[in-house]
Amino acid sequence: MERIVSERLKNGKFICTRCGICCKNKGIELSNSEIQEIANFLDISVNEFKSKYVRFKKVNYTRKIINHTYKIKGLATILSKKPDGNCVFLEFKGDKAVCKIYPARPISCKLFPFTWEYNPSTFKLYLDFSPDAIGICPGINNQAGESWDSMKNEITKVAKSAIKQYKEIIQSKKYKIKQLD
Ligand code: SF4
Ligand code: SF4
Repeated sequence: MERIVSERLKNGKFICTRCGICCKNKGIELSNSEIQEIANFLDISVNEFKSKYVRFKKVNYTRKIINHTYKIKGLATILSKKPDGNCVFLEFKGDKAVCKIYPARPISCKLFPFTWEYNPSTFKLYLDFSPDAIGICPGINNQAGESWDSMKNEITKVAKSAIKQYKEIIQSKKYKIKQLD
């Protein structure tokens, strides 16, 4: 798989300052394998996990994957939020965010603030900072951050897991996928 990296990522830096901003109002969509993994981590059944920690939401959005745009409709399984909008698993120790399920956290949490696009016909994987994260995440281009060279293997690994997870989500019977162009 060929990896193509945006200039702003290649020249950028990143460190997580544990501000917790990305754990607020995110609506994290979970695949069945993520649900199983988190339930295992919490040592509870999948049914108990679903009854306590997820909500179901109708989704209807478009996603561009390189050359094509897809319309995705269906019922998504989303991590619950607290009344203040923070993720149900977010806590603070002093001013530092702590994820209560950190070792089993969803792929999209591991990937933030990076994003990917994958073209299955050319086997090209595009990586970038997520446009949603720029201007919001204080870790992007933070002076204390790591360079692309030192992060690239880890980010590529997480992006590949994200592709697998995304395929699992869109192949689930809960979704209808239509290619628009
Ligand atoms: S917004 Fe950025 S710096 Fe803050 S917790 Fe999320 S990834 Fe870390
Ligand atoms: S699961 Fe953890 S990392 Fe992901 S949004 Fe919730 S608290 Fe943040």
